[in-house]
Amino acid sequence: MEFFVASIIKELEILDPGELCRVCLALPNRLEVEGISFPLHDQMRPGTAFLAKPWGERTKKYRRRMYTRSNVAKLQPGLLETFINYTHRELSDTSIWWQSVDAQDWYRQGRPIEVRIQIDREQGMAIPYESASVCKPTNLRLEDDGAWESMPFFCVAFGTGVTPFLAYIRNWVAHHSQPGGLTGLRPLTLVVSAKHFSGLICHEELSQIQKKFPGRFRYCPVLTRTWPANWVGGRGRLISVSQNSSGNERIDISNLLAFLPGLPHGHLRVCGNKEACNQILTALERGGIVPLSTRMESW
Ligand SMILES: Cc1cc2nc3c(=O)[nH]c(=O)nc-3n(C[C@H](O)[C@H](O)[C@H](O)COP(=O)(O)OP(=O)(O)OC[C@H]3O[C@@H](n4cnc5c(N)ncnc54)[C@H](O)[C@@H]3O)c2cc1C
Repeated sequence: MEFFVASIIKELEILDPGELCRVCLALPNRLEVEGISFPLHDQMRPGTAFLAKPWGERTKKYRRRMYTRSNVAKLQPGLLETFINYTHRELSDTSIWWQSVDAQDWYRQGRPIEVRIQIDREQGMAIPYESASVCKPTNLRLEDDGAWESMPFFCVAFGTGVTPFLAYIRNWVAHHSQPGGLTGLRPLTLVVSAKHFSGLICHEELSQIQKKFPGRFRYCPVLTRTWPANWVGGRGRLISVSQNSSGNERIDISNLLAFLPGLPHGHLRVCGNKEACNQILTALERGGIVPLSTRMESW
């Protein structure tokens, strides 16, 4: 049996009109099921997604949609932050709604969105449902505590694909801030590709973290279409595809690899569209580049 809880839209911020918004949903502290009151324990793992039921602008009904959580449960329990892009697809439905006047009204009026939770009767608690319960090559659930700390990560994000890595890095910073947190913690590189500057999510926060942890966190934003006059980050596409003289597809990821020195000694994590993920996998295979592990998620 599935359970959902009414969760208030605590924040709805249009970051780039017609392109990108930030959403925070607040879960209630308790949930009543069959006359029993269960406290909510937020233990979502960095890199996983929650399931919500937003309104479909096109279909005019509630839809089930997954959103990767970008904040960290232990720092902000019960508050689910995510970034949602306007997909511009022919069948776009909920992604359009999040940027509509209707959604702004729901936010102002305190109308809730349903979020799926699970009941753990043995432990007597309610837990937010998460998209992945074990680490697999096709998801980005962060490895167990005690394992991830010693893994040098190379994370590559396209657009809103940065959401799982925001959770990684915020978790990484929280770990750093603990007494003895620096010992043994391996560096993390984050390459983020967006068309325009306005599509770079949490750019200032990530730049500040890089300044605070030089040599330990490397933030590499790359703009593919336009960039500000004073832009010092990367420019141009990370992957380019062309046909060679015999008509075969040639995938060039040298622009991407330039940001990932030492990749064979690190763990590659990618979040982006299916095409980009497949192209990276193919190019690595053709180039004989084998990271210590590779995991990718696309939506
Ligand atoms: C694990 C995961 C994490 C995600 N995280 C994010 C995130 O952080 N940010 C973000 O912007 N998006 C994320 N997404 C994508 C998000 O769930 C939506 O798909 C996206 O916002 C587009 O929604 P949409 O309703 O506009 O269109 P779509 O979801 O593309 O739907 C378009 C049409 O396809 C139909 N459709 C969609 N899915 C299915 C299906 N499974 N079976 C049958 N028909 C279907 C819909 O009914 C609709 O008619 C994630 C998806 C997954 C799976």
